[in-house]
Formats: sequence, C-alpha cells, structure tokens
Amino acid sequence: MRLLLVEDNPLVGTMLRVNLGQEGFEVHWHTTGESALTALETLKFDLALLDIGLSGISGIEVAGRIRKLGLETPIIMLTANDDLDTRVHALDRGADDYLAKPFDMDELIARVRAHLRRSSGTLEHLPETEVHIGQAVMVLERKTLRDPAGQLHSLTDKQVALVQYFVRNPARVLTRDNILEEIWGREPAPTHAELDGLIAGLRARIEREPSHPRYIVTARGIGYRFEP
Ligand code: CA
Repeated sequence: MRLLLVEDNPLVGTMLRVNLGQEGFEVHWHTTGESALTALETLKFDLALLDIGLSGISGIEVAGRIRKLGLETPIIMLTANDDLDTRVHALDRGADDYLAKPFDMDELIARVRAHLRRSSGTLEHLPETEVHIGQAVMVLERKTLRDPAGQLHSLTDKQVALVQYFVRNPARVLTRDNILEEIWGREPAPTHAELDGLIAGLRARIEREPSHPRYIVTARGIGYRFEP
C-alpha cells in the first residue's frame, strides 16, 4: 500500500514515515504541495495524508487537485486543533476525513486502515435487501427497521436515504451540507438543526445508547461519520 504524505514539519513527517513504515506502508513523503502534485503525475497512491499549512500551495489545494484529476484516493487532512472552518472547507473540497494535531498515532493508523478498507471494496457492496447496523436490521425496500430490542418500526423515505448514504460512505466525515445536498438535492432542505433532529431520530432506533452513539458518530461542529 502506497501512501502520499505531505507534511512540512520535519518532526511530524519523520514520526509519520517511521510509524507508518513499521506498519508496512510504503510512505512517499513530500514537504511541499507542488512536489506532491508532480509525484501524482507518475505514481498511483492508495491514500493521501495532507497537512493543510504548507509554504506554497496548501494541503486543501492538493486535495482539490487530486479530485480534479478524477482520482478517488482517500484523503485524510492533518489540521490544527481548533480550526473548524478550515476542516469544513477541506471536506467540501474533497477530503474524506481529518485528524487534529496533535493526533494519536494509533488512531491515525486505525483511520488509515478504515479508509483503505472502504476504498478497496465496500463500494461494491451497496445495500441490498437487509442492512445491519450493529443489532438493528433494516429492509430498505420495505422501509422497515427492527431495533436492537426487537421492535419493528417504519422508516420515512428520508431515513432510508440517510441510511443508504451512510452505508455507502463508511468512515468518512460527512458535513451537514454534504448530507443535505445528497439527500435533498434540489428539494427545499431542512436546516442544520432539523437535520440533527432527523439523525437523533435514527439513532434512537439504531443505537443501543443513543446518547453515546457507536455507529452514527458526531463530528463536532461539522457533521457525522458512520462507523460500521
Ligand atoms: Ca504545516
């Protein structure tokens, strides 16, 4: 598995190269976005880890260029801890996920593996008749859901669409605008607060502990991530 790493901080770059190398990844470390873009012309990468603040073009621009090239390479951004707007911007430009610095190396490796699993197959497993999320079982054609306690419920069209969207995009951070655009398209969309309400309704059916969700996880201030 070949990873593209763009990081201009020598300490962080070295730490990532060493740790990911020990996990068996072939890490191509670039300190500028420009040199990463040159590498992208000749090499195929399985995943990109992009620092945002670089001396030339930013990591967000690199993400945008990767998507403009038509590549579906999973992209994880490395962001400053408190910068919500930048994260949303990065996700809107095509990044799949972010990790705030300082990040935990085990978590970073787990996220890398989750995105590699997603990109290497899950897209072919589109929801068929039965969808299982934890102990909840849904039959989307029939718009039914059996909750973890065994109770049967009916689902609305929007709930069905939400479940399908989550299942197709495991491990990705989906911004509220991503979700609204995907599910409502040109129809009048609900507000962010109303969307949060719909998600809460879905969690109440799916999660064992809706107040501590395990499957539909909050990306604070940004949106949601489905953890299968
Ligand atoms: Ca930097």
